[in-house]
Amino acid sequence: MKKVIVIGGGAAGMQAALRLRARGVEPLVVERETETGGKLRGWHVLFPSFTPAGELLSELRRRVRESGIEVLTGATVTAIAPRRVTLSDGRCLACDAVVLATGFTLFDARIKEEYGYGIYDNVVTSADLERMFAQGRVAKADGTAPRRIAFLHCVGSRDEKVCQQHCSRVCCITGVKQAMELRRMFPAADVFNFYMDMRMFGPGYEELYREAQQRCNIHFVRGRISEASPTIDGRLQIKAEDTLTGRPLRMSVDMLVLLVGMRANDDNAALAASAGLARSASGFMAPRDLFLGRVSAPVEGIFYAGTVTAPKTLGETLDEATAAADAAAEYLKA
Ligand code: SF4
Repeated sequence: MKKVIVIGGGAAGMQAALRLRARGVEPLVVERETETGGKLRGWHVLFPSFTPAGELLSELRRRVRESGIEVLTGATVTAIAPRRVTLSDGRCLACDAVVLATGFTLFDARIKEEYGYGIYDNVVTSADLERMFAQGRVAKADGTAPRRIAFLHCVGSRDEKVCQQHCSRVCCITGVKQAMELRRMFPAADVFNFYMDMRMFGPGYEELYREAQQRCNIHFVRGRISEASPTIDGRLQIKAEDTLTGRPLRMSVDMLVLLVGMRANDDNAALAASAGLARSASGFMAPRDLFLGRVSAPVEGIFYAGTVTAPKTLGETLDEATAAADAAAEYLKA
């Protein structure tokens, strides 16, 4: 039986491995962490349906387990070739093709010092907030409930100053979803979303955005927060400009949530160099063709699944993982 090494044991990697198995190919999943799941492990509920992320993760893991797919955890890949994968401990794993499903990295909000992440209390990222939701408790640093919360969109995305010019695609809808969850948790709280554009492109997104405004009374302000600073009474003062009215705006809030974007993994550069692969300006892997070869690398026998090539939603990621596995299976038949 032909063997394909799937690098990355997140949603894309698990889905690609399942599809390969269904196509009569033997997959081996290589995951650097001690368990599979990737970013799904830290997520509470998924947009736009509020489906618990744990349900999807458990189902993918169950299918992988019951399919008898081999998973090698705690293994870091340092180099790839169409028929060989090298690990950091020096081992070389032979195969007939490779599916790269290493995903993305969340933008480090500390780089945008003006927002005070890691410096001031009660400045959190969307990933931090998701963990708080998962733990069932959202609170300020002093343990009390926030009464006024601001979300800031596009942190580490669409920003030339931090070399991240791309749109991360999922943070607008994440901001809407999280704002609604906060209003459910704290019905008396005021919630503001500061955005540049609302990019509601997916199925059900526009409806959720409308519900957030009309039923949940969440305030959407077109404008960018320029800085946050602590106040004497333990709150945060934010400065912004409402770009619809042209007016500067100052507001005190109890919590500032930074909607951090997706950026390319740091190890893309080394993996690309090892196999002669190209990367886009943002550092994501460049596919063979944007229309007819989206899941194929320019090098024969290497395939891409999920956000290793660009920011994507989870649904798109799973679809693409299926397509990458199909492309690998067809390649092995030829
Ligand atoms: S999805 Fe929205 S918040 Fe995210 S980068 Fe694009 S415009 Fe900004």
